[in-house]
Amino acid sequence: MSTPSHGTRLDPWFDSYAERAHGMRSSEIRALFAVASRPEVVSLAGGMPNLSSLPMDHIAEISARLLRDRGTRALQYGSGQGEVETREAILDVMQYDSIRVHPDDVVVTTGSQQALDLVTEIFIDPGDVIVAEAPSYVGALGVFRAYQADVVHTPMDDDGLIPEELDATLTRLKSEGRRVKLLYTVPNYHNPAGVTLSLERRPQIVEICRKHHVLILEDNPYGLLGFHSDPMPALKSFDPDGVIYLGSFSKMFGPGYRIGWAAAPHAVREKLVLASESAILCPSQLGQLSIVEYLNTWDWYGQVKQYRGEYRTRAEAMMSALSEYLPMCEWTKPEGGFYTWVTLPDGLDAKAMLPRAVKNLVAYVSGTAFYTDGQGGDHMRLSFCYPTPEAIREGVRRLSQVVRSELET
Ligand code: PMP
Repeated sequence: MSTPSHGTRLDPWFDSYAERAHGMRSSEIRALFAVASRPEVVSLAGGMPNLSSLPMDHIAEISARLLRDRGTRALQYGSGQGEVETREAILDVMQYDSIRVHPDDVVVTTGSQQALDLVTEIFIDPGDVIVAEAPSYVGALGVFRAYQADVVHTPMDDDGLIPEELDATLTRLKSEGRRVKLLYTVPNYHNPAGVTLSLERRPQIVEICRKHHVLILEDNPYGLLGFHSDPMPALKSFDPDGVIYLGSFSKMFGPGYRIGWAAAPHAVREKLVLASESAILCPSQLGQLSIVEYLNTWDWYGQVKQYRGEYRTRAEAMMSALSEYLPMCEWTKPEGGFYTWVTLPDGLDAKAMLPRAVKNLVAYVSGTAFYTDGQGGDHMRLSFCYPTPEAIREGVRRLSQVVRSELET
């Protein structure tokens, strides 16, 4: 049998892939999952929410009732945009972000991950620029790569995106004749950086993007999970027509139903619905109706507060373990969410160190996963959302053994 001209022996279809498929890579996080999920490994790598406090008996009851009384609707196809009652319930949730839009401007999606895909599909031609925070959510970078976007990172500090730097980046790109289509940002409890965009900077970021005619893609899955406070107003609240806002039930309820949403300017919303219909026909009816039932029959905001307390306790365990065991490192101090971003001492390489960490039964994600340009080797993302406080402490202790031994070699 002859081998294709540019193919590999392992994959006879190599030459047949579309060009964009060649840019697809397995995420560093997915590759880690197999090792990190071994029970003896303390995983500070994954971002799985901790669902142990969900009212499972109540959820079982409403699920049974839903299937019994409205089963033919729950198991049927539905609207490509999402059911009206889901979109109305989503407006109630977005009030906490000071967003006031019409239910017609909301598109229900299969998690906010699908919304990221749809937005990229309708805006990005190969070579178009997406400006994104340095570092950025790995799942968004994967989508951007699949559509052959050119991602340009712009720096953050402890108060999130730096307005002057963003302005300078956009000005430079324009002077180079580059077409910047989107600013992708996670303003609250950033994944992976753990920082939050300050209130003062929010209108400034919006104004800079307006000046440069760049649409903002605001991704906010963690916004309700502030340890001490309700969310600050979303970027969308400052300029509803200049921002596509993405929300999700994954972190404030549970990711299993895979329901998220996009709130978009009217014309953009129409394109999103068309793109979503051709991708999935419609989001899960069962997922939507189950979530609406949960929101209507349970003190869901009370549950959000319960989550906040649990994540706060875990974040405190992480912060105190870092101070005790890794004083040679620096790290961000999250006010909510799931993550802290650790800077290693000079000369250490998080990616190279990872196999040794896993051997010492602790896992993290190397900072390189969160950049498109090879940066990040001196950083790691540690998540505190899933392990118990005791396991977090033990994980950081194991990590400190690895860091110390690296420093000695
Ligand atoms: N955006 C960010 C910043 C995330 O961290 C995640 C999940 N880890 C998502 C989007 C996707 O979440 P989902 O599809 O579950 O809504």
